Amino acid sequence: MTKARLEFFRKRLLKAREDILNKAKKLKEDSYTLGTDGIQDMADAASNSYNADILMSISDNDLNILKDIDNALDKIVNKTYGICEECEEKINEKRLEANPIARYCITCKRMMEGKGT
Ligand SMILES: [Zn+2]
Repeated sequence: MTKARLEFFRKRLLKAREDILNKAKKLKEDSYTLGTDGIQDMADAASNSYNADILMSISDNDLNILKDIDNALDKIVNKTYGICEECEEKINEKRLEANPIARYCITCKRMMEGKGT
């Protein structure tokens, strides 16, 4: 992959990382606001705990994405970005554009998904 293309993907990964961190920060601020709301009736308390559950599941999911983003950024540094972790063939760049954190080429990905069913 050319330097320009690597830079393109690096910027996209950094942007995605920033978006998640900003979202997490905003969620934290929102939950803080919910918790310091003063007087609450039962319905409010119930909806607050429901929201907290959603917030937690979102952050778990985002944490996994963050890990994948950091993994991809590491691979850019190590010059292995865009190489399938399974068969070590190049991953199609169109696939990377759709999903910059893709770790496997489409062939390996399909095989793995096939095993699962
Ligand atoms: Zn592969």
